[in-house]
Amino acid sequence: MGTATLSETKSMLTLPGDAVRQIQWRFADRFDLQMLVQSARGVARGTVARLVASGERNTHDWTPAKAEMLQAFDRAGVTAAFMEPEEGGFIAGPKNLALSLSAFELAWVDGGAATASLASFLALSPIHERGTQQQVTHYKTLAAPPQPGETRAPWRGAFALTEPIPYVGVDTGMLSGKVAIAQWKDGEEPWLQVDKRGRFITNIAFANFVTAAVNSCDPRIKGSCVVILEEGDEGTFDRGTPTKKLVHQLSSTGDPIFSLKVPASRIVGGYTVKDGVVIPNFNHGEVIESVFRRTRVPVGLMTAAKLISAVEPVIRYQRQRFRGAEGSKPGSIRYEQGIQQREDALHRLVDIWATGEAAASLGFAAARLFDTLDPLEKQKNAILAERGVQGGRAELRALKESELQAIELLSLKESDPRRAELEADPLVQFVLKDAEANVLCPATKLWNTGHGTNMMREAVSLMGGYGITEDCPGFLGAKWMDSQLEATYEGPEAVQRRQLTVTMNSDVFLAQFRVWTGDMRRIAATNPGTGACTLASAMHLWLWTLKYLLKATDPSGSKLYHGQRQGVTFALADALCWLLASRCQILDVLELESQGGNDPVASEGLEGTVQFLSDLCHTQAAQAAGEASRICAELVFGYTRHPSWQDEDHKGCFLASELEAYEETMPGITAIAVDVLAPDGSHPLKAGPCASCSGNSEFLRLQNKLTTCLSGARLAKDRAAETVSRVMIPEALDYPA
Ligand SMILES: Cc1cc2nc3c(=O)[nH]c(=O)nc-3n(C[C@H](O)[C@H](O)[C@H](O)COP(=O)(O)OP(=O)(O)OC[C@H]3O[C@@H](n4cnc5c(N)ncnc54)[C@H](O)[C@@H]3O)c2cc1C
Repeated sequence: MGTATLSETKSMLTLPGDAVRQIQWRFADRFDLQMLVQSARGVARGTVARLVASGERNTHDWTPAKAEMLQAFDRAGVTAAFMEPEEGGFIAGPKNLALSLSAFELAWVDGGAATASLASFLALSPIHERGTQQQVTHYKTLAAPPQPGETRAPWRGAFALTEPIPYVGVDTGMLSGKVAIAQWKDGEEPWLQVDKRGRFITNIAFANFVTAAVNSCDPRIKGSCVVILEEGDEGTFDRGTPTKKLVHQLSSTGDPIFSLKVPASRIVGGYTVKDGVVIPNFNHGEVIESVFRRTRVPVGLMTAAKLISAVEPVIRYQRQRFRGAEGSKPGSIRYEQGIQQREDALHRLVDIWATGEAAASLGFAAARLFDTLDPLEKQKNAILAERGVQGGRAELRALKESELQAIELLSLKESDPRRAELEADPLVQFVLKDAEANVLCPATKLWNTGHGTNMMREAVSLMGGYGITEDCPGFLGAKWMDSQLEATYEGPEAVQRRQLTVTMNSDVFLAQFRVWTGDMRRIAATNPGTGACTLASAMHLWLWTLKYLLKATDPSGSKLYHGQRQGVTFALADALCWLLASRCQILDVLELESQGGNDPVASEGLEGTVQFLSDLCHTQAAQAAGEASRICAELVFGYTRHPSWQDEDHKGCFLASELEAYEETMPGITAIAVDVLAPDGSHPLKAGPCASCSGNSEFLRLQNKLTTCLSGARLAKDRAAETVSRVMIPEALDYPA
């Protein structure tokens, strides 16, 4: 596949359709999810697209038209996607993939619409993850859309963590919101006084309830908690003024002020009373951690959707660019191909497309992983509770043995009989999936939204001036700006990098990473055209660099891999994300190749589609390898001091007089000696003698190998570009401009 030319291979004729995506993103057997995708798409390309086209983004206020969008979500089943069947929903079991698919469809048209839908789920998530059964049933049932015959309006929620500066933002530990005992009669439930000011709170214009993070300011309440506030509670429920956002205007955002009296039963997850002190079962950090690790995945997928959604409008614009001009007659290359005659325009679109594919693959892999992890986590909790272990350090200690077993499992041969025993152990399975999820979630949020935003700028630029107008088909300019919010909210890039700094260095994750690297080599043997070998070499280089940095120090003796040293750890986290995205992209194409033939629709033109998507993989793998190589080289060499022309560093230099003598026994040495000192001490005009790189020659060997692994990558890009210039697209976009 890797060396074939277009004329020898099948070419993709149309854009990848639903059947292809269902196989790649693994919901071909989930009719419920396929239906959800269709309904969300209907709202996105209907109601939402009309709102954007009619200028509803031009106001910060919450308007009746925007409110109508929420009702459209309700009617389409988008709201109910979060609920269990007994709570008014229609999807049983974990819903991470479901919510991700729905967010993907909405963000395909408008990120603000997707956020408006997700924000209610975000408000419910603390309750869903950590609430008591009574809280879960009560609030999720209220938030479910009305059943046929019911007239009630569903409750909408807001999630209030962020506070006015200088309090909570990235640093979730610095809370100013307060909770105190308002009243506590003997033998009765305590009442709480909650004072919380929010900043940038989504859904606030219409929220009926708010899940708010607060700290105790009363010795009779221990620590912090998340508390549920309702609009009918006694006191002040002030929604504040709308935020003057430049982005996501179809969602509502504002800075509310709450000063409310609520019963202690509103503490999310409940509480116990010990020695006259209310002790929440979960502090706010524990609640928020379990929420964000799931909800950040759909956010990452929103940016992925925008990148892939840009492909069709850009192709159409490029092809039609010169139509109507005098010299551009139908049938002529200029008329038919427009800007697509030009290689650069095609190559840049290939890069955007490849990024979108990688981002979607990474995000959906993370979403599926959480669907697998959710029941395992419940099983783990039940097993540990039976053993009398609950949370915190005790849990970490209890899982240590399972971690060692997980690492052992990863080292066993396929034929080893012990595999079955370890694979059947739910704690081992939990530890494996948990370690992976702890990396994939922040990687999705970080890479998809951060690098994705940069690539959205590329998409905008391909549309010329049109790209930065409201009329741009596909609303690309708005999508570019919106992506920056996706990179910011639920914790901006620094938060994701900080998390990766810890989780990517876990023994269990690194053992998996080693296995994945080997897998990529094996995949390369059967599918060299995917760039899997390039990726394997880059993964190897990354791991070598991590191990090196864990031990290395700078010239002053300070450790390089250290939480405070973000210049090292954050950069390495960035490099990893590129590799993870590329890996997921390759795995999805392999899935399509192996399963596509079984589907009557996907099997049509399958070879061409697989060829094209493999070429995108190869293109992306080369980019990822290049990024990883650049970052790793800078870290490995960048923290050693460059040799200087000072005396003590002269050791590696030749003196001009020495060279003359050497020339007699080693003819030609003068030509290759670069750091020569003249008798008067003068030297070549450069920073100093070249660094000898002693000790890091293994890095150079690996990097050298990686460079040669890039062979074929540009041929793949050429082939992908040719397909982009020929692929058929519909006459017009299926949503209005
Ligand atoms: C439209 C919109 C909707 C929102 N919706 C909600 C909502 O519904 N609920 C809610 O609670 N919040 C919401 N937010 C708030 C959002 O989550 C925060 O804005 C975001 O988490 C960043 O916090 P901050 O604005 O205080 O940025 P800051 O913390 O001031 O960050 C500024 C910059 O400094 C960097 N930085 C900060 N700390 C570090 C560090 N330790 N190391 C390195 N770099 C660092 C950041 O990465 C960033 O680049 C919303 C925000 C917006 C704009």
